[in-house]
Amino acid sequence: MIVVKIGGSQGVDLDAVCEDAAQRIRAGDRLIIVHGGSHATDTLAEQLGYPSKVITSPSGHTSRRTDRRTLGIFQMACRGVMNPALVEGLQRRGVNALGLSGMDGRLWVGERKSAVRAVENGRTIIIRDDYTGTVETVNAELLRMLVGAGYTPVISPPGLSTGSEPINVDADRAAARTAAALGCECLLLLSNVPGLLRDYPDESTIVTHVKRSAIDEAAGLAQGRMKKKVMGAGEALEGGVARVVIGDARRARPISAALAGEGTVFE
Ligand code: ADP
Repeated sequence: MIVVKIGGSQGVDLDAVCEDAAQRIRAGDRLIIVHGGSHATDTLAEQLGYPSKVITSPSGHTSRRTDRRTLGIFQMACRGVMNPALVEGLQRRGVNALGLSGMDGRLWVGERKSAVRAVENGRTIIIRDDYTGTVETVNAELLRMLVGAGYTPVISPPGLSTGSEPINVDADRAAARTAAALGCECLLLLSNVPGLLRDYPDESTIVTHVKRSAIDEAAGLAQGRMKKKVMGAGEALEGGVARVVIGDARRARPISAALAGEGTVFE
């Protein structure tokens, strides 16, 4: 089984992803598709007059401020925009795709952060009404059952907290957990860049290989959301996944190219 996480950023070619996925599934590959919704959330939040806010942790990590209203918009973007687009793209090509969120069947469960620390105007504040967390357990049995019955799961955030509330979880890291829980050989993180760039945005500076011992160094090259991908890659390797590739989803046959090692290969 291969977990393929698809980004939602500008330039990502969803048709090419669905076409390649369909060809590979017909040839016998078993795929699990994961996606996020951060870019669709930003657009929708703007349209709804409740623009996204980013918070910075004391250690410098940035994340989406997810109050209850933002969580609702995030769910609309994931479950109402991105997920049906992928399910439709796959169904049109004869793949029996089945959309589900991390809440369904307790697929992605994690602790909700009871207090989020953020730096605002040089001061550290504590936010208590945030709905965020990290996936800790994956209902691998449910996925095996679905794939075994011929379905292709298309999974999106949110996840479910241990207290059964929806939580905003990072899809790259959730995909890493999923690949580890399923004992996958390979995890693909497809985005709108050729891979991890040493000198972003210069695409000629792609890092082609990262050894497991050099993950922290690689994370140092990434800014913003690319950091989560490198963290996810590290977590997947730690969880027993043999190979992680950050690859380009702006091209034809993006899954096959990443599987062939085009992109940044972590192993
Ligand atoms: P997705 O929606 O595909 O998951 P994100 O926008 O969340 O993608 O993350 C990918 C983005 O990370 C790239 O579009 C790029 O703007 C940014 N980025 C930051 N640093 C780097 C880097 N060193 N190499 C590649 N991309 C980087």
